[in-house]
Amino acid sequence: MTEAHTRQQMIRIAKLCYERHLLVAMDGNLSVLLDDGNVLCTRAGCHKGFLGDDDLVVIDRRGNKVRGQGDPTSEMAMHLACYNARSDVRAVVHAHPPISVAFTIAGVSMARCVLPEVVLTLGTIPTLDYRTTGTVDLASLVGQHIRKHDALLMDRHGAVCVGGDLLEAFCRLETMEHTAFITKTALDMGGVKELPPEEASHLRSMGLKRYGGPPEAVAQADLPGADLPEACTACADAGDGQEGGAPSVLGSNVRMGRVTGAPLQTMESALSDAARFSLTGSASKTETSLERAVTDAVIRALGDEQ
Ligand SMILES: [Zn+2]
Repeated sequence: MTEAHTRQQMIRIAKLCYERHLLVAMDGNLSVLLDDGNVLCTRAGCHKGFLGDDDLVVIDRRGNKVRGQGDPTSEMAMHLACYNARSDVRAVVHAHPPISVAFTIAGVSMARCVLPEVVLTLGTIPTLDYRTTGTVDLASLVGQHIRKHDALLMDRHGAVCVGGDLLEAFCRLETMEHTAFITKTALDMGGVKELPPEEASHLRSMGLKRYGGPPEAVAQADLPGADLPEACTACADAGDGQEGGAPSVLGSNVRMGRVTGAPLQTMESALSDAARFSLTGSASKTETSLERAVTDAVIRALGDEQ
């Protein structure tokens, strides 16, 4: 693909990010690896819905500007960390998809096996511990985890999705937010049924072989559970035993919510959540999903103490 064509594609996909409500205002940034080894990226402080050719900057692999007007995106280090971590990555899209980000703020994990097609193509979507935006610290954390995932969430911030080209990275971002929307809708209706662990493992193994993925994940395709986290292959056991797969809502989510060392929800916080929600709880006689979630969380926290 020529650079001119790549620039057109970046402008089109940036506008789609805006139109699909995956970012607002000056949020987000996109980049592509060019054939000469340099990186084409969006400049700092530009609106993705009104992106023009003048908003694109070419930098080298050390972050020095080669061509273009203005400064490269402030998250340049994060993009370069993705290219440095994986030679198969040729495009990076960073956005602030609202429902996915809300999952991180609520402490609800998206590292769950719920939708078969997502398990096939993306596996689980981990949430990285909070780091200050634009820092080398955040860039190195993203670089470390992008080795095993094509889509990541950063706590209280946004998504990083990578691909062999911009369209693939964008599709992963869209899939992430669509999954968050479906999961949130199911939670609103009363709970989320996980896929049985053996089916999740089977799907993931099949997906890695059929569609590929991060090379480190593909290398695990034939291992038990493939590249799924251990907590995930046991997640269907986390429910309350009701028929059809119980809703395992708040407690198990929080426990699987981080891939790095953030503390898990404690019994104290589960109990204080329960107290808070009971003050503002529904007057309805039927137990709401939230109340059930809090009850589950308290039961699990008590279980952890034993
Ligand atoms: Zn951001």
